[in-house]
Parts: sequence; C-alpha cells; structure tokens
Amino acid sequence: MLDRYPFTRALSAEESARLRERVVLFLHEKSIVGAGGLTVRDEMRVCIAAQACMLIINLDLDYYRGWVEVIVYPDEFVAEYDYVDEDGVAHHVAAPMTGESWLEGPVILSWADAQLRGGDSGYNVVIHEFAHKIDMLNGDANGFPPLHPGMDRGAWSRAFGTAYEDFRGRVERREPTTIDPYAAEHPAEFFAVLSEAFIETPAAVFSEYGDVYRQLAAFYRQDPAARLVRQPLAAGGVR
Ligand SMILES: [Zn+2]
Repeated sequence: MLDRYPFTRALSAEESARLRERVVLFLHEKSIVGAGGLTVRDEMRVCIAAQACMLIINLDLDYYRGWVEVIVYPDEFVAEYDYVDEDGVAHHVAAPMTGESWLEGPVILSWADAQLRGGDSGYNVVIHEFAHKIDMLNGDANGFPPLHPGMDRGAWSRAFGTAYEDFRGRVERREPTTIDPYAAEHPAEFFAVLSEAFIETPAAVFSEYGDVYRQLAAFYRQDPAARLVRQPLAAGGVR
C-alpha cells in the first residue's frame, strides 16, 4: 500500500521504515471521517496518511499537532463563508473546493481530487493541504512556517519573495510553467504548491527555483530530487 506512489517507491529502506512509522502514528492520532455520503475505507485512510506523512518523514508527527480531524467528501465540496468588503458590504460566498485547511481545525479533502495526483503537473491536493497545516503552526497561513534553529529567516524570505514575484509575472504574462499557476494567488499558496511539487516533481522545482528548493530541502530535511537521481523510475515507476 505504501509503495503505490512514485515518490514513496524512491525512498531508501530507512526512509520507508520511517514513513511506515509515521503513518501508523498518524492513523492512531487522527480521525479520518467521511462526509457527503462517503464511506472511508481503511485503504483510503492509508493513502491519505502516506501522502500527508511524506512531508514529515524526517520531521515528526508533532508538526501535525493541535487538531485531529480529516474530513473526506466524495468529490468537490462547497465551502461557504461570509466576509465584509472594504466598503462595509457583507458578502456570502459559496465556492466549490477540492481541499481546505482550517487553523487549529480540520483538513477537508475531496476524495476524487485526492486521487488525481501525480504526473508532470506536480498536483497533489493532500500534500497541498498538509503543507498549509505546517505553515499554520505559527498562525495564519502566510508561506512562513516555523523554521528550524540554524535556518536563516532572511534567506527564506529572499528565496521565496524573489521566486513568488517572478512566478506572478510569468503567470500574468501567461507563460507556460511546470508549476501550477495557482501558486501565484498568495504567498501561502506559493508555499503549499511548491511543497506539492517538491515531493511530486522535485526536479522541476530544483531547476526553476533552486533557492526555494534548497530552503524546502532544509525545512523538510529531505532531498527528493537526489532520491530520484539515485533511483530513476524505481520499481516500475512512471513519469
Ligand atoms: Zn491552498
């Protein structure tokens, strides 16, 4: 079950064992429940946990502290929220969503979209939402998670700030990018999308935004691009 993804097949034996350990703890601590008529089977729980735990194979489960619930809908779900605009007018919005993360609250996922991951797009809604969770360890999602001692906050800001501005420009000019254009929406989305791509298509992140890749490698304490070079197309993998 844990070797169904190209990124898990590329893991060393030691990393694989750690992933397995994290998944067991994750399933013990978190409650993964169905909504909208979905019955969540055990193998679905393992799929979600395995992807979520890829971000923390060399960190620990404490990075997912402060909340317990993962809610899974069969397909896109409608998120409703209210806000007041700058003219003081109240709005009610209902938007279809593939995933959502609440500060100190649940992660919500569309099961249909959770299975669309992979390929060259770097798309992975599960990793995306759990990256938001890590970002929210120090408050609202802003693309600045709590860095490890010894990591340079200035270097992080410069790498992400420069890459984000460059990426926004490319998206505005409608240039084709290997990274999901949704990353241009907000610095928090840039961090979450680049975290997805860091696991799914690390070579693309490395070649397009090397400084961001190095910051992510230091933060997640793993080097997925090197892993794929060591073990290209591991065990029947496809690109
Ligand atoms: Zn997001």
